[in-house]
Amino acid sequence: MEAENNEGERPKTAGDQDRFEAIVNLSKRRGFAFPSADIYGGMRSTYDFGPLGTLMLRNIKEAWWRSIVRERDDVVAIDAAIITNPKVWEASGHLQTFVDPLVDCRNCHERWRADQIEGVCPNCGSSDLTEARPFNLMFKTFVGPVDDESSVAYLRPETAQGMFVNFLNVMTTMRRKPPFGIAQIGRAFRNEITPGNFIFRMREFDLMELEYFVPPADAEKWFAYWCDERMSWYRRYGIPDRLLRFHPHAPEDLSHYSAQTSDIEFLYPWGWGELEGIANRTDYDLTAHSEHSGIRLEYFDQSTGERYTPYVIEPAVGTTRVMMAFLVSAYDEDEIGGERRTVLRLHPSIAPYQVAVLPLSRKEPLEELARDVLRRCNSTFMCEYDDTQSIGRRYRRQDEIGTPYCLTVDFESLNDGEVTIRERDSTEQIRVPIENVVAELRDRIEA
Ligand code: ATP
Repeated sequence: MEAENNEGERPKTAGDQDRFEAIVNLSKRRGFAFPSADIYGGMRSTYDFGPLGTLMLRNIKEAWWRSIVRERDDVVAIDAAIITNPKVWEASGHLQTFVDPLVDCRNCHERWRADQIEGVCPNCGSSDLTEARPFNLMFKTFVGPVDDESSVAYLRPETAQGMFVNFLNVMTTMRRKPPFGIAQIGRAFRNEITPGNFIFRMREFDLMELEYFVPPADAEKWFAYWCDERMSWYRRYGIPDRLLRFHPHAPEDLSHYSAQTSDIEFLYPWGWGELEGIANRTDYDLTAHSEHSGIRLEYFDQSTGERYTPYVIEPAVGTTRVMMAFLVSAYDEDEIGGERRTVLRLHPSIAPYQVAVLPLSRKEPLEELARDVLRRCNSTFMCEYDDTQSIGRRYRRQDEIGTPYCLTVDFESLNDGEVTIRERDSTEQIRVPIENVVAELRDRIEA
């Protein structure tokens, strides 16, 4: 088994390298992400998400779902199988074309993606490399009791095909007409060769994908619309403009199915890199599945006789890449009252915990009151209860994991029925009656 190792693209400057290492260390130390099966030395490009990472990933999915599904009436969701009929991958072109060109270094025997290394092995500096060979990124498996060619199946490398093969099922059961979308969040698997900068490039990750079906003549308009929508989403959740940009693909770089693609790129500690891909997949997939299955995947209007194969606009992004971008843009070090602190300035809806309840003492009757405050809050917010060590240290711990609000329950609370809300970024403190706490926090968190 390969040991966990994050070589590959390296941060460009010492400052960025330090910052990147600080983020990786914080993630391990505070339970965001651990190398998978750490006790066995980990496994390349594979991570296990700890308690805080799990909460953050849920929040990322929820924020995506909210803007793509819940706040719209033209998108419905599905949950398709991970291992499906292999004919899907034949029709989609993945069996033939989902390949990276790979080269081996004859000197140190490391394997690299030819398009990422410019003829020199990043490990040993040798330029004695083999010819590039195509390597399929799909994981192969066998279904049923016999390991032969007739039982080969694949773990899906994208969720999109599940939406295409269910196009008719969804359109008819939900009585839809283009423009409309099908959304899905689910696990995808890619046998990535180049190990990747912490959680940037993984072998399994959750994809959040929307397939938005439109009349062909409107495809360009909808492509522009979804580019804007998705960029606004990152801004809405606090990523500053200077860390985001579009990267439109040149015609020669387009995937086999795409007429137009633009990546949303993020300024990672090692430079600009893809965060999300937005593609105009044309009618490539629906046409391919129509041809291979013999079932016409088209829109047909009985009253007008109108018939066409819709074009598809697809915004697709991995949850862990979004997590990485949020962590990088939120990480900060500042000074409060002469003391240095590390703070994750995460959006309140993205932070693992929205609220920490901190009683000044573990003794009754303060604990009972603090537990009452916790019960009021935890049906609405993800809360942490912490009654260990000094209050200053507890604030620092919450700052470091991005908790936007701490509720301090002190002895005065027993008399006046009020608690202190302490805000993470400004460290400002205000007193509020316990019965108003949930409403007060809701206003701030959902603002
Ligand atoms: P790359 O060029 O980085 O390999 P790609 O162009 O193959 O990526 P797409 O097929 O466009 O990626 O995938 C859409 C999105 O899925 C990416 O923008 C990224 O957010 C996410 N993604 C793709 N591969 C991975 C991976 N190995 N680990 C984590 N997320 C990924």
